[in-house]
Amino acid sequence: MPARVEQVPCLVCGVPRPIAVSAPAEARRAAARPCRKCINRGRSPLQRWSQEVDDLTVQFLVAGARVNATPAERREAVAILTARRLSASAIAKRINCTQRTVERHRARHRATLAAAA
Ligand SMILES: [Zn+2]
Repeated sequence: MPARVEQVPCLVCGVPRPIAVSAPAEARRAAARPCRKCINRGRSPLQRWSQEVDDLTVQFLVAGARVNATPAERREAVAILTARRLSASAIAKRINCTQRTVERHRARHRATLAAAA
């Protein structure tokens, strides 16, 4: 079944947000997530969502689709696109964020790799 972007209501605010889905089960799972705006408000019960990585959402980000993604998913997409030698400004355009955010994600990713070494 081809993957697509669907409007799914946020768990917290109920506002429909674009989410990557390829099967009905995924749409239901996606509906159990808060949107990026709610996550970024940073209330403690939402913190775990900001660390969640859904591979399909990362694929959509890498492909340049506008989807509701967690900060961890954006960081993963930045890591993949950086490995493909895209510039910070090209990545920023692709995943719909600022160049400064791409640089921030890259710095955090490098720190994670350094800590693991
Ligand atoms: Zn929300």
